[in-house]
Amino acid sequence: MLLVGTDPRFAEHDPGRRHPERPQRVEAVLAGLDDAAVRDAVRHLEPRAATRAELERVHTAAYLDEIERVCAAGGGALDPDTSASPRSWDAAIHAAGAGLEAVAALERGDGDAAFCAVRPPGHHALESRAMGFCLINNVAVTAAYLRDRGDSVLVIDWDAHHGNGTQAIFDDDADVFYVSMHEWPLYPGTGRIDEIGSGPGAGATLNFPFPAGTTGDAYLDAIDTVVEPIAEQIRPDWVLVSAGFDAHRDDPLTDLGLTAGDYADLTARVLALAPARRVIAFLEGGYDLGALRSSVAATASALVGAELRPEPATSGGPGRAVVGAVRRLRSAGPSRN
Ligand SMILES: [Zn+2]
Repeated sequence: MLLVGTDPRFAEHDPGRRHPERPQRVEAVLAGLDDAAVRDAVRHLEPRAATRAELERVHTAAYLDEIERVCAAGGGALDPDTSASPRSWDAAIHAAGAGLEAVAALERGDGDAAFCAVRPPGHHALESRAMGFCLINNVAVTAAYLRDRGDSVLVIDWDAHHGNGTQAIFDDDADVFYVSMHEWPLYPGTGRIDEIGSGPGAGATLNFPFPAGTTGDAYLDAIDTVVEPIAEQIRPDWVLVSAGFDAHRDDPLTDLGLTAGDYADLTARVLALAPARRVIAFLEGGYDLGALRSSVAATASALVGAELRPEPATSGGPGRAVVGAVRRLRSAGPSRN
Protein backbone atom coordinates (compact mmCIF):
# COMPACT_ATOMS: atom_id res chain seq x y z
CA MET A 1 0.00 0.00 0.00
CA LEU A 2 1.36 3.40 -1.03
CA LEU A 3 0.39 6.35 1.15
CA VAL A 4 -0.06 9.52 -0.88
CA GLY A 5 0.09 12.75 1.08
CA THR A 6 -1.69 15.47 -0.83
CA ASP A 7 -4.09 18.33 -0.19
CA PRO A 8 -6.04 20.85 -2.31
CA ARG A 9 -3.97 23.56 -0.59
CA PHE A 10 -0.93 22.50 -2.62
CA ALA A 11 -2.57 23.86 -5.79
CA GLU A 12 -3.33 27.18 -4.08
CA HIS A 13 0.29 28.31 -3.89
CA ASP A 14 0.53 30.69 -6.86
CA PRO A 15 4.10 31.62 -7.84
CA GLY A 16 2.97 34.02 -10.55
CA ARG A 17 1.98 33.98 -14.19
CA ARG A 18 3.81 31.57 -16.52
CA HIS A 19 5.96 30.25 -13.71
CA PRO A 20 7.20 26.69 -14.46
CA GLU A 21 6.44 25.56 -10.87
CA ARG A 22 2.71 25.82 -11.53
CA PRO A 23 -0.34 24.37 -9.77
CA GLN A 24 -1.06 22.01 -12.71
CA ARG A 25 2.00 20.01 -11.62
CA VAL A 26 0.02 18.48 -8.77
CA GLU A 27 -2.72 17.39 -11.20
CA ALA A 28 -0.06 15.70 -13.38
CA VAL A 29 1.32 13.89 -10.33
CA LEU A 30 -2.12 12.71 -9.25
CA ALA A 31 -2.83 11.55 -12.82
CA GLY A 32 0.44 9.60 -12.69
CA LEU A 33 -0.64 7.94 -9.45
CA ASP A 34 -3.90 6.99 -11.08
CA ASP A 35 -1.98 5.44 -14.01
CA ALA A 36 0.33 3.50 -11.77
CA ALA A 37 0.21 -0.26 -11.74
CA VAL A 38 -0.87 0.20 -8.13
CA ARG A 39 -3.93 2.39 -8.52
CA ASP A 40 -5.82 0.08 -6.17
CA ALA A 41 -2.95 0.08 -3.71
CA VAL A 42 -2.93 3.83 -3.09
CA ARG A 43 -4.28 5.21 0.17
CA HIS A 44 -4.78 8.91 0.86
CA LEU A 45 -2.73 10.43 3.65
CA GLU A 46 -4.11 13.66 5.12
CA PRO A 47 -1.24 16.11 5.66
CA ARG A 48 -1.31 18.26 8.79
CA ALA A 49 0.30 21.63 9.31
CA ALA A 50 3.83 21.38 10.71
CA THR A 51 3.99 23.13 14.07
CA ARG A 52 6.09 26.19 14.69
CA ALA A 53 8.52 24.12 16.80
CA GLU A 54 8.84 21.55 14.01
CA LEU A 55 9.59 24.28 11.44
CA GLU A 56 12.11 25.96 13.76
CA ARG A 57 14.26 22.82 13.79
CA VAL A 58 15.24 23.93 10.27
CA HIS A 59 14.35 27.62 9.80
CA THR A 60 14.88 30.73 11.90
CA ALA A 61 11.87 32.29 13.64
CA ALA A 62 12.54 35.59 11.85
CA TYR A 63 12.45 33.90 8.45
CA LEU A 64 9.19 32.06 9.20
CA ASP A 65 7.67 35.33 10.47
CA GLU A 66 8.67 37.04 7.23
CA ILE A 67 7.04 34.47 4.93
CA GLU A 68 3.89 34.43 7.02
CA ARG A 69 3.78 38.22 6.96
CA VAL A 70 4.33 38.48 3.18
CA CYS A 71 1.50 36.00 2.57
CA ALA A 72 -0.85 37.74 4.99
CA ALA A 73 -0.12 41.03 3.21
CA GLY A 74 -1.21 39.57 -0.14
CA GLY A 75 2.00 37.91 -1.31
CA GLY A 76 5.12 39.12 -3.06
CA ALA A 77 8.60 38.25 -4.29
CA LEU A 78 10.94 36.49 -1.85
CA ASP A 79 13.77 35.92 -4.35
CA PRO A 80 14.17 36.59 -8.11
CA ASP A 81 12.67 33.12 -8.87
CA THR A 82 10.43 32.67 -5.84
CA SER A 83 7.17 34.37 -4.94
CA ALA A 84 4.52 33.83 -2.32
CA SER A 85 0.78 34.32 -2.77
CA PRO A 86 -1.83 34.80 -0.03
CA ARG A 87 -2.35 31.01 0.30
CA SER A 88 1.33 30.03 0.09
CA TRP A 89 1.99 29.98 3.84
CA ASP A 90 -0.84 27.54 4.49
CA ALA A 91 0.29 25.36 1.55
CA ALA A 92 3.93 25.44 2.71
CA ILE A 93 3.28 24.43 6.33
CA HIS A 94 1.06 21.56 5.17
CA ALA A 95 3.72 20.50 2.63
CA ALA A 96 6.21 20.44 5.51
CA GLY A 97 3.78 18.51 7.71
CA ALA A 98 3.05 15.84 5.08
CA GLY A 99 6.32 14.06 5.77
CA LEU A 100 5.74 14.13 9.53
CA GLU A 101 2.31 12.61 9.05
CA ALA A 102 3.85 10.00 6.73
CA VAL A 103 6.31 8.96 9.48
CA ALA A 104 3.44 8.40 11.91
CA ALA A 105 1.34 6.51 9.35
CA LEU A 106 4.20 4.22 8.31
CA GLU A 107 4.98 3.48 11.95
CA ARG A 108 1.36 2.53 12.51
CA GLY A 109 1.70 0.09 9.61
CA ASP A 110 -0.80 1.92 7.41
CA GLY A 111 1.34 1.48 4.29
CA ASP A 112 4.58 0.21 2.78
CA ALA A 113 5.98 3.55 1.57
CA ALA A 114 4.82 7.15 1.25
CA PHE A 115 4.82 9.70 -1.56
CA CYS A 116 4.23 13.31 -0.56
CA ALA A 117 2.75 15.08 -3.60
CA VAL A 118 3.46 18.55 -2.25
CA ARG A 119 3.87 22.14 -3.42
CA PRO A 120 5.76 24.37 -2.93
CA PRO A 121 8.92 22.25 -3.25
CA GLY A 122 11.63 22.50 -0.61
CA HIS A 123 15.21 21.44 -1.29
CA HIS A 124 16.62 24.88 -2.20
CA ALA A 125 15.19 26.59 0.90
CA LEU A 126 17.91 27.62 3.36
CA GLU A 127 17.67 28.23 7.10
CA SER A 128 16.70 31.87 6.56
CA ARG A 129 16.23 32.31 2.84
CA ALA A 130 13.70 31.27 0.18
CA MET A 131 15.16 30.40 -3.20
CA GLY A 132 14.62 28.30 -6.32
CA PHE A 133 10.79 28.10 -6.02
CA CYS A 134 11.15 26.79 -2.41
CA LEU A 135 9.82 28.36 0.81
CA ILE A 136 10.15 25.72 3.54
CA ASN A 137 12.54 22.79 3.24
CA ASN A 138 10.02 19.95 3.48
CA VAL A 139 12.46 17.03 3.44
CA ALA A 140 14.69 18.78 5.99
CA VAL A 141 11.78 19.29 8.43
CA THR A 142 11.13 15.54 8.44
CA ALA A 143 14.85 14.65 8.56
CA ALA A 144 15.43 17.01 11.52
CA TYR A 145 12.43 15.57 13.37
CA LEU A 146 13.76 12.03 12.94
CA ARG A 147 17.31 13.03 13.87
CA ASP A 148 16.20 14.79 17.04
CA ARG A 149 14.52 11.66 18.29
CA GLY A 150 17.69 9.65 17.64
CA ASP A 151 17.14 8.08 14.22
CA SER A 152 19.74 8.04 11.45
CA VAL A 153 18.55 9.40 8.12
CA LEU A 154 19.76 9.01 4.55
CA VAL A 155 18.49 11.67 2.15
CA ILE A 156 18.68 10.82 -1.55
CA ASP A 157 18.10 13.86 -3.76
CA TRP A 158 17.67 12.97 -7.43
CA ASP A 159 16.19 16.30 -8.53
CA ALA A 160 18.19 17.66 -11.50
CA HIS A 161 19.21 20.67 -9.41
CA HIS A 162 21.53 20.41 -6.43
CA GLY A 163 19.64 20.58 -3.13
CA ASN A 164 21.79 23.35 -1.70
CA GLY A 165 19.33 24.06 1.12
CA THR A 166 19.24 20.53 2.44
CA GLN A 167 23.01 20.18 2.11
CA ALA A 168 23.63 23.42 4.02
CA ILE A 169 21.14 22.62 6.80
CA PHE A 170 22.85 19.27 7.54
CA ASP A 171 26.40 20.24 6.50
CA ASP A 172 27.95 19.58 9.92
CA ASP A 173 25.49 16.88 10.94
CA ALA A 174 26.74 13.29 11.17
CA ASP A 175 23.23 11.83 11.64
CA VAL A 176 21.71 13.01 8.37
CA PHE A 177 23.65 11.71 5.36
CA TYR A 178 22.91 13.75 2.23
CA VAL A 179 23.40 12.37 -1.30
CA SER A 180 22.65 14.42 -4.41
CA MET A 181 22.72 13.43 -8.07
CA HIS A 182 22.31 16.53 -10.21
CA GLU A 183 23.27 18.29 -13.42
CA TRP A 184 26.44 20.35 -13.43
CA PRO A 185 26.89 23.15 -14.24
CA LEU A 186 23.36 24.28 -13.39
CA TYR A 187 21.43 26.39 -10.88
CA PRO A 188 22.12 26.88 -7.95
CA GLY A 189 25.85 26.36 -8.62
CA THR A 190 26.66 24.21 -5.60
CA GLY A 191 27.14 20.43 -5.36
CA ARG A 192 30.75 19.91 -6.42
CA ILE A 193 32.43 16.60 -5.70
CA ASP A 194 34.61 18.17 -3.00
CA GLU A 195 31.61 19.39 -0.98
CA ILE A 196 31.58 16.55 1.56
CA GLY A 197 30.26 18.18 4.74
CA SER A 198 32.17 19.75 7.60
CA GLY A 199 33.01 19.24 11.29
CA PRO A 200 31.24 16.18 12.69
CA GLY A 201 29.42 15.91 9.34
CA ALA A 202 32.59 15.63 7.23
CA GLY A 203 32.04 12.67 4.91
CA ALA A 204 28.25 12.71 5.38
CA THR A 205 27.58 14.69 2.20
CA LEU A 206 28.02 13.11 -1.21
CA ASN A 207 27.60 14.86 -4.55
CA PHE A 208 27.42 13.48 -8.08
CA PRO A 209 27.61 16.50 -10.44
CA PHE A 210 26.58 14.87 -13.72
CA PRO A 211 27.13 16.41 -17.17
CA ALA A 212 24.26 17.19 -19.54
CA GLY A 213 23.05 14.04 -21.29
CA THR A 214 23.76 11.68 -18.38
CA THR A 215 21.67 8.51 -18.65
CA GLY A 216 20.17 6.10 -16.15
CA ASP A 217 23.14 3.70 -16.10
CA ALA A 218 25.30 6.33 -14.39
CA TYR A 219 22.67 6.87 -11.68
CA LEU A 220 22.48 3.12 -11.02
CA ASP A 221 26.28 2.89 -10.97
CA ALA A 222 26.34 5.67 -8.36
CA ILE A 223 23.87 3.81 -6.17
CA ASP A 224 25.42 0.37 -6.62
CA THR A 225 29.10 1.25 -6.22
CA VAL A 226 29.05 4.23 -3.83
CA VAL A 227 25.73 4.78 -2.05
CA GLU A 228 24.84 1.16 -1.32
CA PRO A 229 28.16 0.39 0.46
CA ILE A 230 27.69 3.55 2.54
CA ALA A 231 24.14 2.52 3.47
CA GLU A 232 25.51 -0.86 4.55
CA GLN A 233 27.74 0.99 7.01
CA ILE A 234 25.39 3.64 8.34
CA ARG A 235 22.28 1.43 8.32
CA PRO A 236 19.81 4.31 8.08
CA ASP A 237 16.57 4.05 10.02
CA TRP A 238 14.86 6.09 7.30
CA VAL A 239 15.49 6.95 3.66
CA LEU A 240 13.94 10.23 2.52
CA VAL A 241 13.90 10.99 -1.19
CA SER A 242 13.91 14.49 -2.68
CA ALA A 243 12.07 13.23 -5.73
CA GLY A 244 12.33 15.81 -8.45
CA PHE A 245 11.53 14.61 -11.96
CA ASP A 246 13.34 17.33 -13.90
CA ALA A 247 16.20 14.97 -14.80
CA HIS A 248 13.76 13.52 -17.36
CA ARG A 249 15.04 14.12 -20.91
CA ASP A 250 11.89 16.07 -21.83
CA ASP A 251 12.24 18.59 -19.01
CA PRO A 252 12.38 22.17 -20.36
CA LEU A 253 14.67 23.51 -17.61
CA THR A 254 17.50 20.95 -17.71
CA ASP A 255 19.53 18.70 -20.03
CA LEU A 256 19.85 15.34 -18.30
CA GLY A 257 18.74 12.18 -20.11
CA LEU A 258 16.51 10.09 -17.83
CA THR A 259 13.18 8.47 -18.72
CA ALA A 260 10.31 7.12 -16.64
CA GLY A 261 11.93 3.68 -16.89
CA ASP A 262 15.05 5.02 -15.21
CA TYR A 263 12.96 6.33 -12.31
CA ALA A 264 11.50 2.84 -11.88
CA ASP A 265 15.02 1.36 -11.58
CA LEU A 266 16.29 4.14 -9.36
CA THR A 267 13.33 3.79 -7.00
CA ALA A 268 13.80 0.03 -6.68
CA ARG A 269 17.48 0.57 -5.78
CA VAL A 270 16.65 3.26 -3.21
CA LEU A 271 13.96 1.10 -1.63
CA ALA A 272 16.60 -1.58 -0.98
CA LEU A 273 18.69 0.88 1.08
CA ALA A 274 16.04 1.26 3.78
CA PRO A 275 14.34 -1.01 6.29
CA ALA A 276 10.83 -2.12 5.32
CA ARG A 277 8.21 0.66 5.46
CA ARG A 278 10.80 3.40 5.99
CA VAL A 279 10.92 5.28 2.66
CA ILE A 280 9.21 8.62 2.11
CA ALA A 281 9.45 10.48 -1.21
CA PHE A 282 8.85 14.22 -1.46
CA LEU A 283 7.95 15.90 -4.75
CA GLU A 284 10.52 18.54 -5.71
CA GLY A 285 10.89 19.71 -9.37
CA GLY A 286 9.71 18.36 -12.73
CA TYR A 287 8.33 20.84 -15.26
CA ASP A 288 7.17 18.86 -18.29
CA LEU A 289 3.70 17.68 -17.30
CA GLY A 290 3.78 14.53 -19.46
CA ALA A 291 7.21 13.51 -18.19
CA LEU A 292 6.12 14.25 -14.64
CA ARG A 293 3.02 12.09 -15.00
CA SER A 294 4.84 9.06 -16.46
CA SER A 295 7.82 9.37 -14.10
CA VAL A 296 5.57 9.53 -11.03
CA ALA A 297 3.63 6.51 -12.30
CA ALA A 298 6.86 4.51 -12.61
CA THR A 299 8.18 5.69 -9.24
CA ALA A 300 4.94 5.04 -7.36
CA SER A 301 4.70 1.54 -8.80
CA ALA A 302 8.28 0.73 -7.81
CA LEU A 303 7.65 2.06 -4.29
CA VAL A 304 5.22 -0.80 -3.71
CA GLY A 305 7.28 -3.39 -5.56
CA ALA A 306 5.32 -3.32 -8.82
CA GLU A 307 6.90 -2.71 -12.20
CA LEU A 308 5.63 -0.11 -14.63
CA ARG A 309 7.84 1.17 -17.46
CA PRO A 310 6.06 3.74 -19.60
CA GLU A 311 9.44 4.26 -21.35
CA PRO A 312 12.57 2.06 -21.52
CA ALA A 313 15.55 2.77 -19.29
CA THR A 314 18.53 4.60 -20.81
CA SER A 315 22.27 4.02 -20.95
CA GLY A 316 25.39 5.07 -22.83
CA GLY A 317 25.50 8.76 -21.92
CA PRO A 318 28.27 10.48 -19.99
CA GLY A 319 28.25 10.43 -16.19
CA ARG A 320 30.06 7.24 -15.24
CA ALA A 321 33.35 9.19 -15.12
CA VAL A 322 31.83 11.32 -12.36
CA VAL A 323 30.92 8.20 -10.39
CA GLY A 324 34.52 6.98 -10.78
CA ALA A 325 35.85 10.33 -9.54
CA VAL A 326 33.58 10.22 -6.48
CA ARG A 327 34.74 6.67 -5.70
CA ARG A 328 38.38 7.72 -5.90
CA LEU A 329 37.82 10.76 -3.69
CA ARG A 330 36.04 8.71 -1.02
CA SER A 331 38.71 6.03 -0.96
CA ALA A 332 41.32 8.78 -0.51
CA GLY A 333 39.35 10.31 2.43
CA PRO A 334 38.70 12.32 4.52
CA SER A 335 35.61 10.42 5.54
CA ARG A 336 33.96 9.57 8.78
CA ASN A 337 33.36 6.04 7.53
ZN1 LIG B 1 14.99 20.82 -9.88
